[in-house]
Amino acid sequence: MDCIFCKIANKEIPSTLLYEDEQIVAFNDNAPQAPTHVLIVPHQHIVTINDFGKQHSTLIGHMILTATQLAKDLSLAEDGYRLVWNCNRQGGQAVYHIHLHLLGGRNMHWPPG
Ligand code: 5GP
Repeated sequence: MDCIFCKIANKEIPSTLLYEDEQIVAFNDNAPQAPTHVLIVPHQHIVTINDFGKQHSTLIGHMILTATQLAKDLSLAEDGYRLVWNCNRQGGQAVYHIHLHLLGGRNMHWPPG
């Protein structure tokens, strides 16, 4: 399958890996939108968050808990940070393999652009 995030998760393409286990990887975004911009990505190829079902509950929880732990490890927790899932075209999704964005290190705007 020609998926950039499958290739990163399988280490066919290099990335700055911050965390990995049998379910997920976390690596730095290569076009960061904040001083810290990490992507939490499952090994499993799931196209959009519309494809989440009850069978993914453990994976979703694991992705969020990994993001919040990384936020603590990267000293973002006290000042704050943002977690983002983009879904499909109007949601701004560019890579069709689900990923959770962890953004921090600057003031975030609301409403988001
Ligand atoms: P989306 O818009 O789909 O929610 O976010 C995709 C993210 O993946 C973007 O922030 C983009 O910069 C990042 N990205 C795309 N290709 C690569 C890549 O090859 N390596 C890394 N590290 N990040 C990528």
